[in-house]
Amino acid sequence: MLPFARVTIIGLGLIGSSITRAVRVHMPTVRLTGYDADPEVRATADRLQLCDDVADSAGAAVIDADLVILCVPVGAMASAAAEFAADLPADAIVSDVGSSKAEVLRVLTEALPNATIIPAHPVAGTERSGPEAGFASLFHKRWCIVTPGEGADPVAVERVAEFWRRLGADIEMMEPEHHDRVLAVTSHLPHLIAYTIVGTASDLEEVTQSEVIKYSAGGFRDFTRIAASDPTMWRDVFLTNKDAVLDMLQRFSEDLTALQRAIRLGKGEELFEHFTRTRAIRRGIIEQGQDDPAPDFGRSHE
Ligand code: NAP
Repeated sequence: MLPFARVTIIGLGLIGSSITRAVRVHMPTVRLTGYDADPEVRATADRLQLCDDVADSAGAAVIDADLVILCVPVGAMASAAAEFAADLPADAIVSDVGSSKAEVLRVLTEALPNATIIPAHPVAGTERSGPEAGFASLFHKRWCIVTPGEGADPVAVERVAEFWRRLGADIEMMEPEHHDRVLAVTSHLPHLIAYTIVGTASDLEEVTQSEVIKYSAGGFRDFTRIAASDPTMWRDVFLTNKDAVLDMLQRFSEDLTALQRAIRLGKGEELFEHFTRTRAIRRGIIEQGQDDPAPDFGRSHE
């Protein structure tokens, strides 16, 4: 039996539209309703037939839903939930896809005090945004971390987990605070580093912009992909996962200083050992099917 029959997606961007596309493929009998604050996005969703129905208000979108998934930037979760609070059916489950979890659970619980809230985070995405960027296979063989709060109804948790399994994802359960620490180091810090290095390169006086672009295959271009990620989304992620990010950043700065010192003192062995250890991490990611084993991220060089 399907875990849900009537699913509403609030926010029809990259993640929201990927969910609707994946639902169409894997659970075609589910009735899909969508809503987005941006009228242009609603018109695009209509044109692409992302849902059975695109509503004109958040309230109208949730009125007969049994699952509502918020797919808006984490800073907009509270206001997006408040918009439909009065129209939410009593037995509906509310979930979200936000990249930080403790703060999102807190604001959703405040905005929807009587609702069953089961947050989740599909660890899948691209640097693109908007309804046209989505695709049905985005969640295939990717982790979806379900982060129920204390005392959450286990039946509701299992229904949300089953929904994501049907879209092709593998499920992991975590406490929201633990999720935020794990993602701070695996996702949030790498984005911060990419944003920094791309900014640094573009501000240099003695290296021209055209040289930076021309020789980007030396490593720089791989950072530019991450640094092209959505500014609204990432501003909100850093502001809502502040403590974990600052903590990991402190650890990172200490390790960077150690490498800086090794270079200054000519400690080749120390550098070699460090780089050997990090190479093994890449091998582990490929072995677990989380990236393409082809050289240069599978880029074609023809
Ligand atoms: P996106 O492509 O920018 O889509 C978000 C959509 O939500 C936009 O169309 C936006 O409209 C709309 N929106 C904003 N406030 C709203 C509101 N109050 N009510 C209804 N719609 C509203 O973003 P995304 O990449 O899909 O990200 C959505 C969520 O997924 C974020 O919480 C993000 O942290 C999470 N996530 C993202 C990724 C990723 O790689 N992108 C991966 C996993 C999870 P406007 O453009 O007009 O603001």
